[in-house]
Amino acid sequence: MKPIINLSDCVLCEICVELCPKIFKINKAGFIEILDIKEYDKDCIKEAATNCPEDCIFFEV
Ligand code: SF4
Repeated sequence: MKPIINLSDCVLCEICVELCPKIFKINKAGFIEILDIKEYDKDCIKEAATNCPEDCIFFEV
């Protein structure tokens, strides 16, 4: 399950990048980007979503 970020709510606090550096990164444009990998660590995404101050991390359905 790939995570999605609602970029219009994201405040670039980088908590998600710190918690899951293999999943989230800041791209050259200065926005959070989801890395294209085979399998996403669901627990790590959940932790990032829980700690995201803007509640803007979701799972793709
Ligand atoms: S934790 Fe949430 S608000 Fe912070 S950078 Fe990640 S997506 Fe944006």
